[in-house]
Amino acid sequence: MLHEKLSSIYDNVLRRNPGEIEFHQAVREVLESVGPVLGKHPEYAESKIIERICEPERQIIFRVPWADDSGEVHINRGFRVEFNSALGPYKGGLRFHPSVYLGIVKFLGFEQIFKNSLTGLPIGGGKGGSDFDPKGRSEREVMRFCQSFMTELYRHIGEYTDVPAGDIGVGGREVGFLFGQYKRITNRFESGVITGKGLSYGGAQVRTEATGYGCAFFVEEMLRARGTSFDGKTVVVSGSGNVAVYAIEKVEQLGGRVVACSDSAGYVVDDKGIDLELLKQIKQVERGRLETYAARRGDHVAFVPGRSVWEVPCEVAMPSATQNEITGRDAAKMVETGCVAVGEGANMPTTPEGIKIFLEAGVAFGPGKAANAGGVATSALEMQQNASRDSWTFETTELRLREIMRDIHGRCVETADEYGMPGNYVAGANIDGFRRVADAMLSLGLI
Ligand code: GLU
Repeated sequence: MLHEKLSSIYDNVLRRNPGEIEFHQAVREVLESVGPVLGKHPEYAESKIIERICEPERQIIFRVPWADDSGEVHINRGFRVEFNSALGPYKGGLRFHPSVYLGIVKFLGFEQIFKNSLTGLPIGGGKGGSDFDPKGRSEREVMRFCQSFMTELYRHIGEYTDVPAGDIGVGGREVGFLFGQYKRITNRFESGVITGKGLSYGGAQVRTEATGYGCAFFVEEMLRARGTSFDGKTVVVSGSGNVAVYAIEKVEQLGGRVVACSDSAGYVVDDKGIDLELLKQIKQVERGRLETYAARRGDHVAFVPGRSVWEVPCEVAMPSATQNEITGRDAAKMVETGCVAVGEGANMPTTPEGIKIFLEAGVAFGPGKAANAGGVATSALEMQQNASRDSWTFETTELRLREIMRDIHGRCVETADEYGMPGNYVAGANIDGFRRVADAMLSLGLI
């Protein structure tokens, strides 16, 4: 339920951003948490902090023309939404996926403001991407697309302005092509202009693994707070992209048994535990489909096409595929079959109905803003290393990531306690993330 004042702000968001349903959903979730904060801080309402936070500082939409291998010309749409720079340069990834439109980019950019704030690091919030579909495209086609995309984007970004990175459809290969084009156009090797770079040209150790590892660390903390651990727990991780693969890796290292993962065509159940080397070979080296995993792994594994992986019973769930993948019905079934903890590796993978069910059932529910903040936090560590022309070891960086995830967990717990909602990580993350941005906005004047 929304507080009266917030309800009129929300109506305005609906009116000013018609049809952008994912953005509406992301805004509503934050507004539902911040009512009590406004009670304690009337200065936020006086300065219209909420209204300002819901309006991006700048939105850039551009044409991305490119030619495929046969010479046919394609036109895609590129986006960069620079949402909030009160805490630092806009920071957030680029998503290349056919579902991308302004509403998706705005939902992701909005989430990023609070996520980045929660890390405690000096980064504002932004997001970008394109409706380009990399699936089935050759490496040359992907390169030409990235070059065309950067030919417009380069004028809007910079170490002190806006620092993109990857997201769905944008990994190390694409970041390389994007950075290469930026360098060529500007004649400047500005490492700090993009993160997620390769290790040979200014990237940071652990950045590739960071979102998945960080999510596992966050869940470990939630389990520890309840006097338990990953040890021997049955875990389901949805997706099989970068976040999922490294979530699986860390969960296995921490003693959990990951029995299922998925892609857009279906899921696999592997009772012996997912064979990570085989999964990496198929998904990362061959860029293949999960169906191949089942075919190569042996008779005990079946590929289940066209169904949701959330029908597989688990004690810990780590949704790491995409938004709104866990419905209310999935959540109810998961609670019934013994799920005790959920850590969101993806952005907004649980629907509002699903979140309500988990919270009411007392499931330890770590929202993406907190649980998947390890990726962007390690991007901020990459920026630190680039600024000082330094590079840290894998061990040092992973230790720092683990500390950051512990701190985020601690702040969520403390804030939820302070506001009389113990154990509610959604409230803790939204309130704590919001307060830091709001205070900075107050100090900066009418920005
Ligand atoms: N796309 C990632 C996220 O959702 C990482 C962003 C970044 O590293 O800037 O947080």
